[in-house]
Amino acid sequence: MIRVKDIILKKLKESKEDYISGEELSSILGVSRTAVWKCINELKKEGYVIDSSSKKGYKLCYVPDIINPWEIKEGLDTKIIGRSVHCFSEVDSTNNYAKMLAQKGCEDGTVILAERQTQGRGRLGRSWDSMDKKGIWMTVVLRPAVGLEDVQIITLAASVAVASALKKAMDIDAGIKWPNDIVLDGKKVCGILTEMSMEMERINFLILGIGMNFGHVESDFPEEIRDRATSLGLYLKGKKGLDISGFRRSHLVRVILSELEEVYDKINKGKATAVIEEWKKYSVTLGKEVLIKYREEQYTGIAEDIDQNGRLIVKQDDGTIREVLSGEVSVRGLLGYT
Ligand code: ATP
Repeated sequence: MIRVKDIILKKLKESKEDYISGEELSSILGVSRTAVWKCINELKKEGYVIDSSSKKGYKLCYVPDIINPWEIKEGLDTKIIGRSVHCFSEVDSTNNYAKMLAQKGCEDGTVILAERQTQGRGRLGRSWDSMDKKGIWMTVVLRPAVGLEDVQIITLAASVAVASALKKAMDIDAGIKWPNDIVLDGKKVCGILTEMSMEMERINFLILGIGMNFGHVESDFPEEIRDRATSLGLYLKGKKGLDISGFRRSHLVRVILSELEEVYDKINKGKATAVIEEWKKYSVTLGKEVLIKYREEQYTGIAEDIDQNGRLIVKQDDGTIREVLSGEVSVRGLLGYT
């Protein structure tokens, strides 16, 4: 639902360097000047800096790094992914909320974002640390037109979309640790958690959770993950001397959604092979010696390739070839996280 506040923000942005009078806003919107003034105050509370002059009116001077539907949708160039966007200051888990919406029949491509998750989840019952306003905590509901065998590919495709968005939006060269962790210099910056609902052997919906560390400084991470977690901010500062405050999470979200739409479209059109080839370009796993852990079992080998279904092909020291499905395994490099 478009609110008066959203339209005021849109008008302020369109006016750019010019002031727009309270009178003009109230006549465009058909509301009183007091109502306009109240909305301006709400925007200021959210962090927008708006200059008000009794003679000239209002001028937008600064847009904060904020997650709201207007900031996400402004300039979004997708058709399916992000046509409906829900934003919250706090949820238990965006995947949980998405699941609830999907069960109620929400449309393909619905996006849920939160400034903070109180119970962010990872795979195998692990937790995902989701600090307030420091990251992109997002879930996309997908209703793919493919069979079960392609679910793994969608998981891989999501990581391709994120890696290519990082390059396009922030000129960051990220790698992918099989199947879909996004890493920067050997540390995890983004995790992807895919969950599925099935009906009569068919995919009913997929829930694609993306957790991206954005503005964290080192001490923001819990001690137990500090050695293998990083954020875009830490990486930019260390690598390029850049300050993350020059970037906006909303911009990166838009580019991720746009890249996601591209790979999703390829998969729905039966072009999964192209996505696999792209995945290989970003891989930091292939060609490396890896440790595979599956329940009580663990073994090492060389990660030789991924197959057409996204399975990791591992050659053990005795020459045995193993095909690894991502579901319940953990993969580690022998010399560190990747
Ligand atoms: P792994 O990275 O151990 O191979 P995984 O792919 O099985 O894990 P995920 O479900 O992607 O795991 O993420 C959960 C794990 O990620 C947690 O067990 C924790 O070690 C780590 N973690 C939790 N929160 C964060 C975070 N914000 N940034 C980086 N790593 C995190």
